[in-house]
Formats: sequence, C-alpha cells, structure tokens
Amino acid sequence: MGSGQVTSSSELFDFQGKHVTVAGLGVSGVPAAKVLHARGAVVTVVNDGDDARAREQAAELQALGITVRLGDGATLPEGTELIVTAPGWQPDKPLFLAAREAGVPVWGDVELAWRLRGPDAAPWLAVTGTNGKTTTVQMLASILRAAGLRTAAVGNIGVSLLDAVLGEERYDVLAVELSSYQLHWAPSLRAHSAVVLNLAPDHLDWHGSMEAYARDKGRVYEGNQVACVYNVADKATEDLVREADVEEGCRAVGFTLGTPGPSELGVVEGILVDRAFVADRQRNAQELAEVSDVNPPAPHNIANALAAAGLARAFGVPATAVRDGLRAFRPDAHRIAHVADIDGVAYVDDSKATNTHAAEASLAAYEPIVWIAGGLAKGATFDELVAKSAKRLRGAVLIGADRALIREALARHAPEVPVVDLDRTDTGAMLQAVTEARRLAQPGDTVLLAPACASMDMFTNYNQRGDAFAAAVRELGA
Ligand code: ADP
Repeated sequence: MGSGQVTSSSELFDFQGKHVTVAGLGVSGVPAAKVLHARGAVVTVVNDGDDARAREQAAELQALGITVRLGDGATLPEGTELIVTAPGWQPDKPLFLAAREAGVPVWGDVELAWRLRGPDAAPWLAVTGTNGKTTTVQMLASILRAAGLRTAAVGNIGVSLLDAVLGEERYDVLAVELSSYQLHWAPSLRAHSAVVLNLAPDHLDWHGSMEAYARDKGRVYEGNQVACVYNVADKATEDLVREADVEEGCRAVGFTLGTPGPSELGVVEGILVDRAFVADRQRNAQELAEVSDVNPPAPHNIANALAAAGLARAFGVPATAVRDGLRAFRPDAHRIAHVADIDGVAYVDDSKATNTHAAEASLAAYEPIVWIAGGLAKGATFDELVAKSAKRLRGAVLIGADRALIREALARHAPEVPVVDLDRTDTGAMLQAVTEARRLAQPGDTVLLAPACASMDMFTNYNQRGDAFAAAVRELGA
C-alpha cells in the first residue's frame, strides 16, 4: 500500500480513494457506508442476508454509487484496504480470517467514530462491564449535565457514536457505553478515563473464552489519560488495569461498597465519599452524596453510582454535581422498577436481569423474596446463584423453556423453598406466575421478577416480559 496506508497507530485517516469493505448492513453498516462514501472512499458493502429489508437498504446505497453484495458476507472483495464491520460479527468469520491473511485491518463502528472525530472533539468517558453499563452511563451523563457540561449518553445504548461525533451538536464530553464486541474492534480508542464495572462469563461463544472476553473488556483502559476506574470487589477488573498501557500519570482508582482506602471511592455510614480526587488523600475524604440519593439504592446500583462518580470526578466535576446528577437520575424501564404494593407486598420488575450475574445483584437487594425466574438459560448454570440467594427466598415461581435447570438447582441448594413450576408459555402464563407468587408472599415480602434468563422463548424481548409482569400485577391489584 502507498501513502495514507491504513495502520492502527495513525489516528486520523484520509479515506480518499481507499477501498473500504463494510461488513453488514443494518444499524451501523448503512451509516458507516454513507460516511465513508462521502469521504471519498470506494465502498463495497457485503451482507450475509438477502431478504426484503436488506434489498431495500442495498437499493438506497446503490443509488449513491456504493457497491453492495447481498448473500455473501464471507468473501473478501478484491483490493480491500480496510474492513469496517458491524460490531456483532464474530471474529472467526471467514471474512476476517481472509483479512488477517491479507494484512487488512478491521475496525468496528466505535473505531470508525473515533477516527472520524474532529481535532477538537469532546473527550470520551467510557463504561464497560458485564452488567450495569446502561445505568452507569446514564448516571454519568446526568452528573455531567448537573455540572453544566454539554454531554450525551452514547454508544451501545441507542444513540450512535457516529452521530454524536459527526452531528451538529457540540459536546464538552461524551459518556460512552461500550460492549465487549465494540471494544474488540476498536484498536486505537483512547478514552480520557474508563471503568470496567464487573466481569462475569457472558457472550463466551462470541469471544471464544473467558480470557478473550476479559481481554476485550480490558481494551477500554488502553491509553487512558486520567483514571482507570475499577471495582475493588472484582479483582479481575483491577488486573485489567494493571495490564493496560496507559498515559503517563494516569491513575488507578477503585470503587467499593465498603470504607474507601486512599485512591478509592466508597461508602461511609450511608454517605458516598471520594478519597481519590481530593487533596491529601491519605487523610482527606470528600462527601459526594447520600446513599438515598441513588435511585434505587440497591447495592449494585450504589456501585454503579460510585463508578459514575469516579469518572465524573476524574473529569473534574464538583461534588455537588455528583449529588445533583444522582438525584436527577431515573433508571430505564425494567431495571428494578417498583410496580406496585399490594397487601403489604412489593412487586418489582427487573426483567433486564437476563443473566445470573445480574439476577444475583437484584436478589441481593431484597429479603424475603418470592422469585419469578426462568426463560432461556443461554448455557448458564444456576447453582452458584441459588446457593448465594437461598436464604433470602420465601418461594420461587418458575417459567419458560429452561426452568428445569433452576428447579434442579433449587432442589440441590434450597430444598426447603417452595417452588411452583409453570408448564405453560401462552400469554396467560405471566398472570398465573404473579398469582402464584402472591399466594406464596407474606406482608413485607418482595415479589421480584429477575429471570436470570433471556426472554425470547415466551416474549419478543425483556421489555415485553416486564410489561407482561406489570400488567399482571395491576390486574391483581384491581
Ligand atoms: P447493561 O447495560 O450492562 O446490560 P443495565 O444497566 O441495563 O446493564 O442493567 C442490567 C441489569 O443488570 C439490571 O437490571 C440489574 O439486574 C443488573 N445490574 C445492574 N448493575 C449491576 C451491577 N453493578 N452488578 C451486577 N448487576 C447489575
């Protein structure tokens, strides 16, 4: 290749005349192809599918002069100098093997946005982890806003980074949610500061192993300028900080639900405190907010708030803005949403707890619990979750395709807990589940939908599952 060669070290890149292959139509592929074309690249889009939607999108791109190959996402087009891929495409696809052999770099949507941002672009505060990303990034945006900064929560959260980077709106700083897939394909990303909230097995089929998954998550710390924020309770996140190659002077900052040591944020007697971004951190601590300012004040959510506060403080935000931002924050639907109190029993919807790690966090937030669980297990096992949560359970109501796995774990680790096993998947199933849960519950208990499973065996997605739960609760209370 001649001058302007695509290397992972060169930050800004001239696309004029470059042969770029975009892998995958869809939410990231179509805008990526358009932007690259507008910058003078010779763009070819390859896509596995060839359905009506793909044809429609292809026609739109072809009208601009972009080549689109439908039904063949495996072959590397002749002359390709760079691939820009949809983040979900698995690294062991033949297209990428061919690219590696030919020495062609592969970027994801995040890398593309990173390369296209302007010279005076807003710095990125990056959030990744197995669970809590969306909540933390939204808390962070709320805190930054409370500090009077122009910001947005972007990335793996609905608002595309490409739009944020290329749009009209001017930002002082971006709160960026990054998935492990996106990080895998973002070799030159350098955040101002970043956090890995936690690490538990997830998406291992995509990454190939836990090591590869952790390595991709750890990429978020590479080149950090001010702070690498990690979870004191999750040593794997601290290990990733140690392994990262960061800018001179960048600090490791821990967050903990306990009393913080120097260079940590933590909790002292119901107060969130900062012992990292204060003068003389050996002796001083700065009060940030009260635990009751966190919405909802469940332990894992306090951890999310501390992580968000750590990033905001790394950016220089005053303590009062942390408090005001946390107070203003409202969680998205289906994340520990309180639906109703009926006869002294609270009904809580955490339909977003789609894996065991997430469910463990929400089960730790209540006691006693009547637990509604089940769905698609995605290869997970439930022994650890059930063993840890057993003493909190008043009862369990199981739904969905893989409920037997949870029933068996309950029999092994919590044989005294009454279990109702619902052998139906029709639309009335959730109402029956809630009715059974009500029967098991006593005043003061919480009926908690925290399925620890994906929803697609019975519902379109976790939203619909949560809505069905809320509708059933309302019917019960009527
Ligand atoms: P993500 O964007 O990573 O999926 P969300 O903020 O949407 O995370 O939260 C998803 C679910 O994960 C929540 O409903 C809750 O059950 C659980 N959760 C949230 N934060 C944490 C955390 N810090 N640790 C463990 N589980 C969490």
